Amino acid sequence: MSNFRILVAEDNEMNQKLIQVILEKSGFQFFLVDDGNKAVEMYQNEKFDLILMDCQMPILDGLSATKIIREFEKQNHRTQIPIVALTANSMKGDREKCLESGMNDFLSKPFKMNELVETIKNWQSQNEKGA
Ligand code: MN
Repeated sequence: MSNFRILVAEDNEMNQKLIQVILEKSGFQFFLVDDGNKAVEMYQNEKFDLILMDCQMPILDGLSATKIIREFEKQNHRTQIPIVALTANSMKGDREKCLESGMNDFLSKPFKMNELVETIKNWQSQNEKGA
């Protein structure tokens, strides 16, 4: 069993449940938060290998949370954690905004189980190569 840990930031209950079921079925370790502030806090306090970040969340959205995390990494000389944006399909230009904020990858909702799993596995294998 690998120690690969995923932080999931998603405010929508249905999406939370879907992601939870997929990650449990696939045997991934994860922790779920429902706003960007909590995501930043969890990132700073615990060790994660990947963040799945919803773009639109209350209190602090995914783009702002990502900017804060990237700034924190810069100031603390930390390696950048991969951040995968979860965005609504309808939002044009979202992908560009996500990448500009410092995210590495992008998954548009609604996604299929295998799309999420493949995306995670892709980052997991890059993480193992780098280790
Ligand atoms: Mn949302």
